[in-house]
Amino acid sequence: MDVTEIVIEGDTSGVAWRLPVLKFSGTDKSAAKVYIQAALHAGELPGTALLHFLCERLRTAEAAGAIKGDIVIVPHANPIGAAQSLFGGMEGRFDLGSRTNFNRDFPLIALGDRPKLLERLERLPAAARLKRQLIHMALGADLVIDLHCDDESLQYAYIDSAFWPEASDLAAALDMEAVLLSDGESSAFEEAVSHAWKYEISGEKRQPLPGKLSVTVELRGTRDVYPEMAKKDADGLWAFLAARGIVRDDTVSLGAFAGPAFPLDNIEMIRTPAAGTVLFHRNIGERVERGDLLATIITAPGMPDGTIDIFAPQAGLIVTRVSDRLVRRGADLMKIGCDAPSSVVRKPGTLED
Ligand SMILES: [Zn+2]
Repeated sequence: MDVTEIVIEGDTSGVAWRLPVLKFSGTDKSAAKVYIQAALHAGELPGTALLHFLCERLRTAEAAGAIKGDIVIVPHANPIGAAQSLFGGMEGRFDLGSRTNFNRDFPLIALGDRPKLLERLERLPAAARLKRQLIHMALGADLVIDLHCDDESLQYAYIDSAFWPEASDLAAALDMEAVLLSDGESSAFEEAVSHAWKYEISGEKRQPLPGKLSVTVELRGTRDVYPEMAKKDADGLWAFLAARGIVRDDTVSLGAFAGPAFPLDNIEMIRTPAAGTVLFHRNIGERVERGDLLATIITAPGMPDGTIDIFAPQAGLIVTRVSDRLVRRGADLMKIGCDAPSSVVRKPGTLED
């Protein structure tokens, strides 16, 4: 395991961020190259824990000569966000300086322009330089896995339909409970990577992309960080790497992915029409029918008409749930994966800002 550090100078004097990068060199030049990062939203740590245990396995494999494809791992991709402490709380999703989501505004370039990403970096703010360093590494690989987590959540992934169903092996290996098929229309890390491949030849859109993969994995909820869970997930990712010929392990055989795959248009985003205290009647992983009571919002505590009930707009699987219990008007409460498109029109791109 070769360890290097990318140093990102801060935007004020005397500050610098250090980003450790772990590399395993493959013995087979024809094997696919892999890039895996975690915690781009700095406080989302299930992936960091997974990678800790995966690296342990990879070091053993390296000693046995069992690593075929080059593997680059960034176990914590966002030291800038990790340091953003605000009145005792952590803000790891948005850069406080620019108010930009750390997983948006990645440059949308053609693959041939990759070397330009690192040109004249000194003119850019630290968060933008971090993004360029990350995507530059990712674009050196064929398979790119970005490990995130949701709030309270099943394990699922956002997979561009350009990679589906080829990527069902990853869903099977990680034992995902759902897959959300995205349209690739955003500036999120995963979609900026696939954008570079799709527009490798300028003016022409290439799709599907066999042998390539760029995916956002949501490793359950923020608090789902436990040793046994992380080891199981590391074993799952190992099995995927073995199945794709990146590491040699003849004992691995993947079953088929049996879970549901929902287009993003079929996700019902359940929002609250009023502020208040949320009482959930249903939990993640449960199937609901149209009209089922999902949540009650206490809008005026103690008053005779002080509650609002929220019902399921159609049948589906509850994939995520908010962990806040005080909710603001318009807040997202749940994502429900459904068989039919939502009647609420969705703008292209990601489900959340
Ligand atoms: Zn995230």
